[in-house]
Amino acid sequence: LPDPDLAALTDPDVAALLPSPGAESDKYRRGVVGIAAGSHAYTGAAVLAVGGALRAGAGMVRYAGPSAPVAQVRTHWPEAVITELDRPSLAGVGRVQAWVLGPGLGTDDWAHELAAQVLASDVPVLIDADALSLVARDHSLLFRSAPVVLTPHAGELSRLLRVARERIEASRLEFVRRAASELNATVLLKGSTTVIAEADRPVRVNLTGSSWLATGGTGDVLSGVAGALLAGGLSGYDAASCAAYLHGLAGTLAADGAPLVSADVATAIPEAMRSLRRAR
Ligand code: AMP
Ligand code: MG
Repeated sequence: LPDPDLAALTDPDVAALLPSPGAESDKYRRGVVGIAAGSHAYTGAAVLAVGGALRAGAGMVRYAGPSAPVAQVRTHWPEAVITELDRPSLAGVGRVQAWVLGPGLGTDDWAHELAAQVLASDVPVLIDADALSLVARDHSLLFRSAPVVLTPHAGELSRLLRVARERIEASRLEFVRRAASELNATVLLKGSTTVIAEADRPVRVNLTGSSWLATGGTGDVLSGVAGALLAGGLSGYDAASCAAYLHGLAGTLAADGAPLVSADVATAIPEAMRSLRRAR
C-alpha cells in the first residue's frame, strides 16, 4: 500500500513547480540570491555555490566573503556581484531575496558572526556545511521567523540532533522528520537517496542521481541551486525538493556512466531543466 506520509518526486511534479520567467520579468523579480560562503582555506566551495545558483536561473547572485574566495569567484563568475568583506558585516551588501549560508565558511568566530547576521535578516536562509556545525553548537541561531532550509548529510545531521550517525543511517526517515519538527525547518537529508521533510507534509523522496555524485563539491552546487529556487519564490519545501531532483538529474547527464567533477553538475542544470520541460 502507498504510504500517505511519503511521496516519490517525479518529472511532472518538478516541471510543474519550476518557475519560468514571464514576459514582464526582470532580474530582481527572478530572484536575487546572496551567497555567504568560502574562506581563505576553502575558496572552491564559494565558486561552486555561486555556479549552482547562476545555472539554476537566479536573476542575480550577490557573493560576500573574504579576499581569497572573492578573487576566485571573480575569476570564475563575472556575472556575480561581489562584496569583499574585511570584517563579518553585511552592511555593504545590497538586498537579496534568499541567502545560501555555509559552504567552506569555516567555524571560527568570524564565521559565527557572519552566520548570525545572515540569520538576523528577514528572508529565507539555506544553511549547509560549516554553517550546520555553527548551528549545531548554537541552536539559538535558528530563532527566526523567516523560513530555514537545512541541507545536512548524515554526519551533519548527527551533530545537529546529537544522535549517532549509525542510528541516523539506519532510520533516515525517522530522523529527517524529527529534525524538521524539532528545528522548525525544511530539512533535506543528503545521501544515495535524498529525503526532504517539513512539519505536516509528506516526506519527499528523491530518486535521481547516482554514486558518481559522491565527489567533493557536489553538495556546494546543490546549495546554490536550492538558493536560486528559494530566491525565485518557491517555498523551502518545494525549493529543496526541486533542487535535489535537478541536481541528481544533472549529475546523471554530466556523468553519463563516467566520472564527473562538481562543476560539471552545475553546468548540466540547464540541460536537466530542458529535459523536464520536454517531459511535461
Ligand atoms: P555533500 O555530502 O555535501 O558532499 O553532498 C554530496 C551530494 O552528492 C549530495 O547531493 C548527495 O545526495 C549526493 N550523493 C552522494 N553520494 C551519493 C550516492 N551514492 N548516490 C547518489 N547521490 C549521492
Ligand atoms: Mg557538503
